[in-house]
Amino acid sequence: MLHRPCLLLVLFSFFSTFVIADQDVERQIAQHLDAQLDESTVLLKQLVNINSGTMNFAGVKQVGMLLKHQYDALGFTTQWLDGAEFDRAGHLVATHESISHPNAAKILLIGHLDTVFAKDDDFQTITELANNRIAGPGITDMKGGDVIMLAALQALQKQGLLQQLNIKVVMTGDEESSGRPLSLSKQAIIDAAIWADIALGFEDGDSNIATAVTSRRGSVNWTLTVKGKPAHSSQIFTDENGDGAIFEAARILNEFRVQLRHEKLLTFNPGLIAGGTRVTQQGDKSNYGVFGKTNVIAKDTLVKGGIRAVSPEQLEQAKAMMQTIVSQNLRHTSAILEFQPGYPPMAQTPANLNLLALYSRVSEDLGYGIITAVDPRNAGAADISFAASHVDMSLDGLGLMGSGGHTKDEVADMSSLAKNMKKAAILIYRLSQ
Ligand SMILES: [Zn+2]
Repeated sequence: MLHRPCLLLVLFSFFSTFVIADQDVERQIAQHLDAQLDESTVLLKQLVNINSGTMNFAGVKQVGMLLKHQYDALGFTTQWLDGAEFDRAGHLVATHESISHPNAAKILLIGHLDTVFAKDDDFQTITELANNRIAGPGITDMKGGDVIMLAALQALQKQGLLQQLNIKVVMTGDEESSGRPLSLSKQAIIDAAIWADIALGFEDGDSNIATAVTSRRGSVNWTLTVKGKPAHSSQIFTDENGDGAIFEAARILNEFRVQLRHEKLLTFNPGLIAGGTRVTQQGDKSNYGVFGKTNVIAKDTLVKGGIRAVSPEQLEQAKAMMQTIVSQNLRHTSAILEFQPGYPPMAQTPANLNLLALYSRVSEDLGYGIITAVDPRNAGAADISFAASHVDMSLDGLGLMGSGGHTKDEVADMSSLAKNMKKAAILIYRLSQ
């Protein structure tokens, strides 16, 4: 009995020195990032001043090569994956696998090289503003995030911690306008997610440093094609001629609205409808021509819409309900509902909330306050959505904060750069322990 308190004491002192040592390590990581801030800011400005609109392949690749050199210098195995087969520039993948700690958590860091600002846009370079703010195309979405993840890994390397880490960095060249087919353009991110246990995204989230993204709704488009029996309008609703394509489309859409509108966090929207005797595509898939007469029962109706769901289960359930509605045709009509491949949802799992709690704890320990989850309704689909279902937990919105993303008023709050570099580095460090 006498030995037990001694053992406890020994254990206690062991753990307290361990904790103190941990805190020392974390303090050194933070100090290193303060010292590195100027260098990271210079790199960020350099990256933003290179136009990398999604379809400017040379610019996207130039941004990719600049970052590739940085990862090469850190000792990562880097690879440029050419995007010709999905009509985009390509992706950068950088991998570091630990020899000494092969079983340490495998962490996927997600960024993108492209921006929404085309080569001929008049918003091309940075402008330094008052109050530690910098305007620039893609500075928060998301070259700032790309610099944050790199800086975090540089700091961990300086502390000799990188050798314990299993890290894969994927920076896509087509996040703002995905190459098609998605099965090819998203292959790199899905492969990396299959390898990984944890996915961290460095988008700017809802541009609030006190929030992060635990869930993103997916986005899928659908097409409804309805056929009716053309006949004189005086014979509508008869056993012989039925109700026509336009009434059948109206029935289906109204049933969608009545049966699905109360599903929490599910939204769906018909955005285009064309109906009559004949519907023909004109130009791109958003333009249709219609011919019809008031005294003829409609033969064709086409409806195009989108649906956003918060989890794969919710999406599948909604699809099944919609198909049931579509199958209950009025007389002498038929309808086909097709769903196109789209962005899958990133579900708000308990594991994602645990990861958020860990991140929040890091933020609090650094003195930056707690972090809460962004409302999924305000979080659109992103590359991490393709990773989420292949990893144990995922979290996005760890990037550089600011305002005006995707507009000429995109401005970074540079005070968030050092903070989020430290939060990311210490989160990765704790996840690897
Ligand atoms: Zn983005």
